[in-house]
Amino acid sequence: MNNQPLRNTTLAWKKADTDHHIHPFTDHAAMANGGGTRIITKAEGCWLEDSEGERMLDGMAGLWCVALGYSQERLAKAAYNQMVELPYYNTFFQTAQPPSIELAEKLASITPEGLNHVFYGSSGSESNDTIVRLVRHFWQVKGQPEKTVIIGRELGYHGSTLAGVSLGGQSGMHAQGGLPLPDFEHVMPPYWYAKGGDLTEEEFGLAAAKAVEDKILELGPEKVAAFIGEPIMGAGGLLYPPENYWPEINRICEQYDILLVADEVITGFGRTGHWFATERYGIRPDLMTFAKAITSGYIPLSAVMVGERVAEAINNSGDDFNHGYTYSGHPVACAVALENIAIMEELDLVNKIKTETGPYLHKRLNEALGDHPLVGEIRGEGMLAAIELVEDKATRKHFADIGKVGGICRDHCFNSGLIMRATRDIMLISPPMIIEKDEIDILVDRAKSAINATAKDLGIL
Ligand SMILES: *Cc1c(COP(=O)(O)O)cnc(C)c1O
Repeated sequence: MNNQPLRNTTLAWKKADTDHHIHPFTDHAAMANGGGTRIITKAEGCWLEDSEGERMLDGMAGLWCVALGYSQERLAKAAYNQMVELPYYNTFFQTAQPPSIELAEKLASITPEGLNHVFYGSSGSESNDTIVRLVRHFWQVKGQPEKTVIIGRELGYHGSTLAGVSLGGQSGMHAQGGLPLPDFEHVMPPYWYAKGGDLTEEEFGLAAAKAVEDKILELGPEKVAAFIGEPIMGAGGLLYPPENYWPEINRICEQYDILLVADEVITGFGRTGHWFATERYGIRPDLMTFAKAITSGYIPLSAVMVGERVAEAINNSGDDFNHGYTYSGHPVACAVALENIAIMEELDLVNKIKTETGPYLHKRLNEALGDHPLVGEIRGEGMLAAIELVEDKATRKHFADIGKVGGICRDHCFNSGLIMRATRDIMLISPPMIIEKDEIDILVDRAKSAINATAKDLGIL
């Protein structure tokens, strides 16, 4: 059997895809006009291969999730062994199986102090739905059922279910289908580069936190149940908060007795060079969401970490918490997560990102692109980076037709064998966390060629 898939196989797949498959977040007419979908057939380490034999460096770790890269046989074996032993049993009605218990104990030990209880789901969106249910149930049990409103941020991303979209602040998602649901509010994000104006980063950090306080006072603290935020906003364009933002948010939530929820779906499990970004920013969450890198994306799994205060109230309410998923605590997914975390620990991966590969990625990006006329800002830490493309570097002026230049650059990336994602005109980088320096060199070289080609298209270079 020839290793190269036949060209007509690709064409047949593309036709079947066009005929039958509805893709998430895709303009189907544009895809069909562009020759159809790109079909990824295999992968190794940090590299993807498509059905036409093209190799691409995956600068996005799939969708921020393939932490250990694509070749971890130990994860496959953990899944196989668990499937042979016990492929499924649920965790409803006073039952469990060893992997769901052992993973709960492990998560309690690696997460920040005070988060010692786990409620499982199969996706970040599901777990954020769980958070909405948990938060409202908590306040009911506490005798304050009128505390129902949850405050999120504009540009925030918390998933794609009705509750996930409502928690998030993505206007394009709200526009399709009359969302957000009632009792979800949004405030300005801590996006200093675009929204800071003449304020220093520190002044802006306080102003962005004050927007939360103002919203609480406008609604009345007796109506507000929780505030939710990604420690670093991911899909919204990798927006980094000023250092004083989260300490202020801690203070505000404590002052007005509002639960604090950290969505660590992207930032969890080492991506920032810390196990969790809440540690990096000193955030004191009552609840925390995980998904993505918890299994390196090999199998769906998510979790809500529940702090003492909420766990105690829910567990002693004298009633069932009427919520759960068929696959909550799925034994195969939990077995893979346990192995995934064990490998991260054996590789000392979080520390390596913090001290070695993370700083190297950012040094190389800044050397290669820091002075580029199209590059307004390069930001990030660990295995996360954003390159914000602007019309005028000095005044931080964005292009009028927002998203167009990002789209051009993303296409040049594809053509130069690198997967980068574009959010508006911000190029996002989140490679597998196991990426080595020689591959970082390739990533940076290809990113630079793509940005140069974009500048040429715009008549700048
Ligand atoms: C991806 C993401 C989600 C949603 O996770 P799904 O598994 O796609 O449902 C939620 N929050 C954040 C911060 C994310 O990046």
